[in-house]
Amino acid sequence: MLNVSHLTKKYNRFIANNNLSFTVDDGEIAVLAGPNGAGKSTAIKCIAGLLRFDGEIEIGGYSNKSIEAKRILGYIPEIPAPFELLTVWEHMEFIARAYRLDNWQERAEMLIRRLELDDKRSKMGKELSKGMQQKISICCALLIEPKVVLFDEPFVGLDPHAIKELKAMLLELKEKGVTILISTHMLDSVEEFWDKILIMMNGRVEAERERRFVMQSGENLEELFFKITEKQPASAAGS
Ligand code: ADP
Repeated sequence: MLNVSHLTKKYNRFIANNNLSFTVDDGEIAVLAGPNGAGKSTAIKCIAGLLRFDGEIEIGGYSNKSIEAKRILGYIPEIPAPFELLTVWEHMEFIARAYRLDNWQERAEMLIRRLELDDKRSKMGKELSKGMQQKISICCALLIEPKVVLFDEPFVGLDPHAIKELKAMLLELKEKGVTILISTHMLDSVEEFWDKILIMMNGRVEAERERRFVMQSGENLEELFFKITEKQPASAAGS
C-alpha cells in the first residue's frame, strides 16, 4: 500500500508538485499520466526518498524515509544508472548482498532470462545499450521481491519483447498483491492494465479515475486527458 498525503515539492520557488494526495492499494496498478514537465518524475523521486518534500508518504504503512519502507520498495528510474564496472550478474549479487537476500540466484536467473540479458551476464554496465541498462534496473528492483514498485516511464527505450515481458511481469506482481505506480506520458502504453489513473498537469492531479468507474460511465479517457493537458498554462491564459 502506498499513501501520499499533501505532497508538495518546490525547486527553489518553482512548485513542481502541488499538494498531491492519493493512495494505491495492494494489488493495484496506478498510473501517473501527464505531459512532459507535469511533475510525474518529481513525485516518484519524492516517494522513492530521493528528494526532500513537504507532506507525508507511507510505503506499506511505514514512512518512506524509514529502513522498513526502503526494504520493500522497488524503484526503476527514468534514466538508468547502472554501475559502470559491475557486470550484469554482479549487479544481482550486489543487490542481494545489500538487501541480505537468501536464495536469490534462481530468481536472478529467471529475471535476466526473461529480459534477455542472460547472454550479457558478463558484460559491464558501461558496455550495455540504454535499453539493456534499463533492463538491469528492472532486474535489480524486482530481485528484492518488493511490495511496492515505482516505474518511471518504463516502456521508453525498451524493445518490443521486453515491453511484452514487462507487461506480463506487471500483471504477475499485481496478482501477488504488489502495489504498483507507473508514470507515463503515453496513455496507450498502459491501457490494458491500469486500475487507477491520476492525470497530472502543472504539478497538480487534475483528475483521478478508477477503471470500474470509466467502464461503467463510458467516459473517454483520451478526451479527458487532452482536455486537461491542452489547457493553456495559467501564465499564458488570456494572452
Ligand atoms: P515529468 O516527469 O512529468 O516530465 P518532472 O517531474 O521531471 O516532470 O518536472 C516537473 C517540473 O519540474 C518541470 O517544469 C521541470 O523543468 C522541473 N524540474 C524537474 N527537476 C528539476 C530540478 N532538479 N531543478 C529545477 N526544476 C526541475
